[in-house]
This record gives sequence, structure tokens and C-alpha cells, in this order.
Amino acid sequence: MTGPLPDEALDALVLVLDEIRLGRSQSRSELVERTGLGRAIVAQRVGELIERGLVIEGDPGPSTGGRPARQLSFQAGAGHVLVADLGATSIDVAIMTLDGRILGHRDEPAEIEAGPEAGLGRVEELFDQLLATTHGVPGALWGIGIAVPGPVEFATGRPVSPPIMPGWDRYPIRERFAARFGAPVWVDNDVNVLALGEWRSGVAAGHDDVVVVKIGTGIGAGIISGGRLHRGAQGSAGDVGHIQVVDDPAVICRCGNIGCLEARAGGAALGQLGAAAARDGRSARLRTALDQRGRVTAEDVARAASSGDPVAVAMLQEAGRLVGSMLASVVNFFNPSLIVIGGGVANSPDQLLASIRETVYRRSLPLATRDLLIQRSSLGGLAGVIGASSMVVDEVFSREAIGQWLAAGDPTELTPA
Ligand SMILES: [Zn+2]
Repeated sequence: MTGPLPDEALDALVLVLDEIRLGRSQSRSELVERTGLGRAIVAQRVGELIERGLVIEGDPGPSTGGRPARQLSFQAGAGHVLVADLGATSIDVAIMTLDGRILGHRDEPAEIEAGPEAGLGRVEELFDQLLATTHGVPGALWGIGIAVPGPVEFATGRPVSPPIMPGWDRYPIRERFAARFGAPVWVDNDVNVLALGEWRSGVAAGHDDVVVVKIGTGIGAGIISGGRLHRGAQGSAGDVGHIQVVDDPAVICRCGNIGCLEARAGGAALGQLGAAAARDGRSARLRTALDQRGRVTAEDVARAASSGDPVAVAMLQEAGRLVGSMLASVVNFFNPSLIVIGGGVANSPDQLLASIRETVYRRSLPLATRDLLIQRSSLGGLAGVIGASSMVVDEVFSREAIGQWLAAGDPTELTPA
């Protein structure tokens, strides 16, 4: 059966496909139970999904009395996606199946400050290499996902006044990749992408209300609210790095304001504080780092703290306290069930996480913290590409998108709205 479906049938089709795709239902009877749709409707929609090559039916499972159930699973090999995670100082690209399995992966250092021509030109070359050298890539290219380290207007896929990305303001990333690769393209900021990755395939799976904080060069948060990524009216929700936490005119942020959280607790700030401690002679270990490379990074501070340097430990504790007090307000306001801490600085020793936890539990209201979990990101260095593929697949299989492309058989001609 091909051709467009009436609205009601499409609603049911998307509901059934989501259940199977996200691993919540594996049989027709589970679908009936979980979706509330009638048995006949479920059978019809499953039949269509099988015909359209989106769902496959396995051998009958063990009988539980009645007719043995046939296992339904998502056809993750129906197509593939290309993703790129552009950080402040790195590019990560991957070619992946529709269920987030990595078929090929490359990463290398790159400065986002070099501008869009250099950065995106390199991503295109790496995509070409992956397409040429990865074996067993299934189906057509169903979509491209790009994450960038700055605010993005999600509807248009354009960065908007990104503070650390000179030359990128309003750059048409979507149009460039759509023209080059002939597939729909979605662009979002790195923190939303991290949140989607943790939610679909990491520690946040199964939670409906989550705050994912990324502490890298800067600080930002991705928000899952009521089982959806909350981007806000313009796509700038979760920009917590620029909440004022200190009233010190000497703490000047790259955004132009004073006293911002990331100007005190972000990776760049920790590097500067570390360099000051090295120059003042307060930390021999940081002094060594400064002498060897001419600068101190957040990683140097983390390493020094791991080996017990008291100045570095105090720096991470103070950063944790500041992040924690911001999060305490967020917890009181939003009542998440889980906070995930990710990003390069968060891979540092336990002092940072311990200090964040201690502050959040002390400063938030008891009801809000009664069942609150605070955990480290589980996807590590691959979080960006895994999250970007989750973004693409969620968009491709959204109600609006499926309505557009189902009749054509695949989403290659889809125009993201
Ligand atoms: Zn700021």
C-alpha cells in the first residue's frame, strides 16, 4: 500500500511506529495494551509499516498460552544518517544507522573560530570519506544532523549571534548540506543534541523531565520537559551559562555581561584561574603545565585535582558550588527527576560532581529533591554524534514529517519546516 494516509490513520501509524522504534512495544498485543488502539487498527498499521519496509517481523516468540507472538522490530537499516558535532576545538563526524549504531566515525582537532567555510568544508570532506570507505552502509541517506557550539534558530537551522563562532551568524548550514548531499538537514546547538542523546540512548532514557548540563568551554543546559526536548520560543532555552552568579565587576563574560556562571565555572574560566594560580606560585603542578605549554587548560586543572593538588581541588569545588546553586534554582522552578552532567570539564575528578550534588541537595526544596538523581553523562566522547543522529531520526519520524514523505517511500525529498 502506498500513497498518503488520512489523518487519523497517520496518527495511529506514528504512534505504533514510535512504540516499536523506541523499543517500548515488541508485539501486536503489547501495542494494543500500550496505545489503547483497537486490535484491528494495530494489525492494519503494523501491516502497512511492514509493507513500507519500516518494521520487520521475527520468528514467533515463546507461547504464553495463546497463539505465539511474532516479535516486531524497527528496520534500522532502511536508511542511514550523516552527523557532525562541531565543538569549539574539534570536529566529530559519523555515519550511522537509523537506530543510532555507528558504522564509521572520524574526529580531529579544528577551531570553530576559523569560520564556516573552513569548518563546514572539512565536514563535507569527512562525510565524503565516510561514504566512500564505510562498508555495508544500508539504504539511502535519510538525513543529516549538525551540532554547533552556539545558539541556533532550530526552524531555519541557522546560528544566531553565536559568541564563540565569528563569521557564523545566520550562516545557511541547512541549505549548504541539503544542496550538496540531497537529504533533509537539521541543525541545533551542542547542548540540545547532548540532551537528546542521553535521553534516547543514555542515562536519561525513561525519564520525562530532565536537565542535561554541559560544562565545556562554556556552560549550557538541554531540557527534556514532559517527554519532549524543550527548545523555547526562539530556540535559546537552557542558556544557563549566562545566569549571574557573582557580583564582581572583574568577572567579565564573553557575552559582555558581568558575573556570568560560565565566566567563573566554565572550562575557559578554569583555565584562566589555573594560569593565575600557576603564576602566583600557589600550585606547583599548574606551574609545570604553564611552563610546558605556555597556558593552563581546564584539563590541566582536572589532572592536578586528581593528583591531590589542593588549589585545583578548591577550584573544582568552587565551580561545582556555582553550578550547583544555579541548578538549585532550576530544580525549584522545573522539578526534574534527573540532572545529567556532561561535557569535557565534567569528566574531571569527583570533586566537581560531589560539590554540585551537595549544593543542589542543600539549596533546593525537599519535595523537589526527594527522588532527584544527579548523574554523569554516560555517552562520553560519542555523545555528540549519537545525539545528532537521535535529532535526525526523531525529526524524520515526527508526525509532520512522515505525513510529507510516506507516500514517496523515503524522506530524501523532505523539506524540514
Ligand atoms: Zn555571559
